[in-house]
Amino acid sequence: MRIVVDLVRCQGYAQCCFLAPKAFKLAGEEALVYHPNPDDAQRQQVLRAVAACPVQAIRMDRLEEPELAHETGSV
Ligand code: SF4
Repeated sequence: MRIVVDLVRCQGYAQCCFLAPKAFKLAGEEALVYHPNPDDAQRQQVLRAVAACPVQAIRMDRLEEPELAHETGSV
């Protein structure tokens, strides 16, 4: 899984740090640092953090999803 935080939007509320402390940490008073590729074992915590962020700053992508580019229809 891959996460991206919009650090311009992030207001340092730290909900994500409480809910997924292995993926998100506050450095100093408002600077968020995060693990961009947290272990899948943290999926539930990260999902809760995404849902709890009051400014929807966290985006989560699944790296393991198969590509959807293959079309099987005939020409
Ligand atoms: S919950 Fe959202 S606003 Fe708060 S620190 Fe995390 S990413 Fe930033």
